[in-house]
Amino acid sequence: MPSRHGMNACENVLIVSAHADDEAFGMGGTLLRLRDQECRLTWLIMSRVWTPRWSEEEVEQREGDIDRVAEFVGFDDVIRWDFPDNRMDEYPRDDYQAKMIDVLEDLQPDTIFSPGPSDWNWEHRIAFETVEASTKPVYSPYVQQIYAFEVPSSTDWGYQGYRQCHRNVYVDIGEYLTEKVKMCSLYSTEVGEYPHPRSPQGVEYWSAMRGMECGREAAEAFYAPRIVHDEAK
Ligand SMILES: [Zn+2]
Repeated sequence: MPSRHGMNACENVLIVSAHADDEAFGMGGTLLRLRDQECRLTWLIMSRVWTPRWSEEEVEQREGDIDRVAEFVGFDDVIRWDFPDNRMDEYPRDDYQAKMIDVLEDLQPDTIFSPGPSDWNWEHRIAFETVEASTKPVYSPYVQQIYAFEVPSSTDWGYQGYRQCHRNVYVDIGEYLTEKVKMCSLYSTEVGEYPHPRSPQGVEYWSAMRGMECGREAAEAFYAPRIVHDEAK
């Protein structure tokens, strides 16, 4: 019996979004693949859009988008935090860490996905650094795999060279690309016109680029800061 490793070994997975939509554009194909592997999927959304920064209609639209995406993926659980979108830098890091530790202790995930440390979007960096600060090995030994995903229009739109993303894990999403594009399009206000990276073509080309890097037709790429292999897992 071959031992399961990497993402094939995921069973209890926490997906962290700084903003609802990070998960769809960043790892939509992988999410659908994990769903088909019958992993337990918990989605944590750290922020909310709010008035008057967004109109009542936009807030309502975004809430509807979240429900549609949650149903599309079939998350087992959705955890909502209330930090205001675009104002997350106004809160102490300790607030984020305390809340994240509560989630981890309750859920005990073996795998965590998060936006990455090299995005220009500082809230993605807050998400990553919160995961980093909350997964000290002695306190959360059950966390065996941590992956940061790329977020189109954030990972790529930072100044290249200054914010270098070190992707080192690839997931073949060939079977899931069409479904991923559909999932991204559920965020109606986030879909752009090509050459916007969040256009349907942008999502496809991005997947093709990452696919070519690993010899697959379509892929998503990740940076894995920590993977712990246990025997016979
Ligand atoms: Zn985001």
